[in-house]
Amino acid sequence: MGIPVLQAARIGAYLLKQHLSGRKRYPLVLMLEPLFRCNLACAGCGKIDYPNEILNQRLTVEQCMEAIDECGAPVVSIAGGEPLLHKDMPEIVRGYLARNKFVILCTNALLLAKKIDDYKPSPSFTWSIHLDGNQAMHDKSVCQDGVYEKAVEAIKLAKSKGFQVSINCTLFNDADPEQTARFFDEMTALGLNGITVSPGYAYERAPDQQHFLNRTKTKELFRGILSRGNGGKAWPFTQSRMFLNFLAGNEAYHCTPWGNPTRTVFGWQKPCYLLGEGYAKTFKELMEDTAWDQYGVGNYEKCADCMVHSGFEASAVKHMVTNPIKALAVTLGGIRTEGAMAKDISLDNQRPAQYVFSGHVEKKLAEIRTANPKASRRIEINHGAGKGGAQPTVAAE
Ligand code: SF4
Repeated sequence: MGIPVLQAARIGAYLLKQHLSGRKRYPLVLMLEPLFRCNLACAGCGKIDYPNEILNQRLTVEQCMEAIDECGAPVVSIAGGEPLLHKDMPEIVRGYLARNKFVILCTNALLLAKKIDDYKPSPSFTWSIHLDGNQAMHDKSVCQDGVYEKAVEAIKLAKSKGFQVSINCTLFNDADPEQTARFFDEMTALGLNGITVSPGYAYERAPDQQHFLNRTKTKELFRGILSRGNGGKAWPFTQSRMFLNFLAGNEAYHCTPWGNPTRTVFGWQKPCYLLGEGYAKTFKELMEDTAWDQYGVGNYEKCADCMVHSGFEASAVKHMVTNPIKALAVTLGGIRTEGAMAKDISLDNQRPAQYVFSGHVEKKLAEIRTANPKASRRIEINHGAGKGGAQPTVAAE
């Protein structure tokens, strides 16, 4: 099924308008992280390690609406943390739908059965269930047994209630092409509306830095998977064929992180969903004050291995708009999985990595403590302040 026709048409019209207006940088998907709190602690995600004062922060409904009104993207992807822990999530989703946006609500599905009746099926609303592979792969990825089973039950429940359901799958360097291809077969047989796949990226807060993919391994892995699925045509990917073509090493793109601007409890994240090198108060400030040319593959050491969809999907979509015939050929013919790969961007002149993120955490903590000193003191007493402090109960609010 992949991208529904209505969504493809509306997003296509938006892209064409941006292209014809000559706008150089424009958003495609707002990445919203309205909280960092989660009810899992996956090895590839460092967010649960934030101090409790930060984990207790929530974007309000008003802040979530302001974010979309400011940036104007046609799609909102709500992640976190676990969005279903946010008590106002149904209202946030309704607010976006009322603004005629496509909403993708990402969840680990542990709370989905409990919360599902707070939402209504709509062609503009999709549940995106986190599943990083088959039972063994996923439970290992999320560091907890039984989560895969619950996620599959949640998919079936949501489908039975008439919702659109996709999965989001992050692949690490221990992914096996054959197992992954069979996993995609199983998911497709469940009647999923889409599969979003991305290679894992070793951002600096992730506790497990060993299992992320580098560029060459990423391309080889995706060639191995796609060759087992008729060049990708066997499965309902939500991403553009040109992005998958890029993952298979047939294109070398510069990233376009402004395509997926990210709003978190810290503010608008510079420069992208993956790196927190600074924060802007407004979307305008993000677009105008970010030194975009200092980031991206070949420009910055931290970017060297990145091929993540939030950085490159918009690049691939832009390529589709400017080269529709090539895009059609890839769509109809499937993705090439053999032969020479495109020459990649040289890393010879990249600037060295800077490690600035902990400074942003300290700044945010200071803001929170100034605004509400009593609450911060209570958290210190109850849980121990600072990184790695014990987590309070994470039941839904
Ligand atoms: S390559 Fe682009 S999207 Fe990836 S980490 Fe760097 S700035 Fe972010």
